[in-house]
Formats: sequence, C-alpha cells, structure tokens
Amino acid sequence: MSGILLELTKVSKAFDRHWVLREIDLQIAKGEVVVILGPSGCGKSTLLRCLNGLETAQAGSIRFCGQELTSGNVRWQHIRQQIGMVFQSYHLFPHLTVLDNIILGPVKAQRRSKREAEAQAEKLLERVGLLDKKHAYPRQLSGGQQQRIAIVRALCMNPEIILFDEVTAALDPEMVKEVLEVMLGLAEQGMTMVIVTHEMGFARAVADRIVFMDEGRICETGSPEAFFTKPKTERARRFLDKFL
Ligand code: ADP
Ligand code: MG
Repeated sequence: MSGILLELTKVSKAFDRHWVLREIDLQIAKGEVVVILGPSGCGKSTLLRCLNGLETAQAGSIRFCGQELTSGNVRWQHIRQQIGMVFQSYHLFPHLTVLDNIILGPVKAQRRSKREAEAQAEKLLERVGLLDKKHAYPRQLSGGQQQRIAIVRALCMNPEIILFDEVTAALDPEMVKEVLEVMLGLAEQGMTMVIVTHEMGFARAVADRIVFMDEGRICETGSPEAFFTKPKTERARRFLDKFL
C-alpha cells in the first residue's frame, strides 16, 4: 500500500497487567497531520512511545514503511532517525550551544559532515526565527525558544514523520503561540506529524484527522470539522465540554 507511512493493527500494551492500549488500529499516510486527543491517562503518550520504541507493545503490529517494528530485531537507532519525537520538556544538552545541540544527531548518528549539517541547521533556525541564537546555550533562552530549537533538532535529522507529545504544555501562555506557529508551518509544508495536544483551537486548525482516545481505545476518529461540531460519542462530547 503506497502512501501509508505507519500502520498499527490491534496494538495493545499493558503495564503490570493493566492494559493502557487496547487494540489500537490506525493508519497514517505520508503528509498527513493526525491529532490525538483524550483525557489525561488515556494512553496518548504510551501510544507515541510505542511508535519509536521507547515502549514495547505486547500485542499487535506496527509497520513503518512496510517494516515490522514489533519484531525482535528492529534497529531502533536507525528507525528513530526517521521517526522524530519532540517532548513536553525540551531535553536540550545544557553544555552544548544551540547549533551543537542540533547537529549532534546528524553528525554522530547519521555521519554527515559538520559543515553540511550546520548549513541545514542554520536554514532551519532561520525558518523558526532563531538564527541569531545559534551560539547561545539553552539556559540563555526562553522555554518557547528552547522548544523551537528542539523541533529544529528533530527536523535536522530529515525524518519521515515527527511525533509531538504535548510540546506546549510546560510553556508560559505567551510562548505557546510561537511554538504552535512553527508546527502549523510544518503542516503546511507537508510534514507528516502525529500531535498530542490540549490546545483545541490549534488541533482544529492543524489536523487533517482527529483521533479521540479514552481508556486505551480509539473511541472516535474524524475530520476536525466533524469532531468539533458534532462529536459522535458521549465521551467525546463530555471531553470537549471541558474546553468550552
Ligand atoms: P496520557 O499521555 O494520555 O496522559 P499515558 O500514556 O501517559 O497517558 O498513560 C496511560 C496509562 O498508563 C496511565 O494509567 C499511566 O498511569 C500508565 N503508565 C504510563 N507509563 C507507565 C509506566 N512506565 N509504568 C506504569 N504505568 C504507566
Ligand atoms: Mg501524556
């Protein structure tokens, strides 16, 4: 099947016999932006973490570009270069400059030349409005700036897809917008993304498709228009009510 980048079939995951993902079926096409919504604890982070090997599903299949990720002999180091992830906390190395944070992966893991990686990093920094910070250290930057750097660091690996797990949740309100705008720009440029967020206006604007989860299951999927105007399930309605 061409066009499908990630294909999950009946993916289930338990922690200590407590099932936190239950038979998740999901396909993500190249260029698609999927936003995952759902109450706290419903399994959103666990789902993203299963997609890049930070957690292992006990059952089901995850295929990435046709390759089975739930088999034993996956080269995760290689896969993670193609499936980027950005977290709530930025995880920048405090002792490295912005530029060195960004080129670490490209140079060490991808064995690209420093000069070439730096050239790409500078282009990306310019795109997010932070080129003038390239020699700064993370502690000299605001949370919003650090998160934009973390996104640039993921982009500089030239991934096929990027997973975003509540990347604005720890930011002061005035910094949320600058990060969401970077993500909206990526969506416009055709980047494949899976986004977990509690920013409903952003979710509606950026998503091609909304996936609503509750208690480890996908309850409902649909266009943002359909989901936000006439959710099909009572659970989704209750969830959305909290944001009104
Ligand atoms: P969400 O991101 O939607 O808030 P999570 O995926 O973080 O939800 O968590 C789903 C469920 O799995 C929760 O009940 C949480 O307590 C549990 N959980 C998550 N990570 C672990 C872990 N490492 N060990 C045990 N339980 C976990
Ligand atoms: Mg989470």
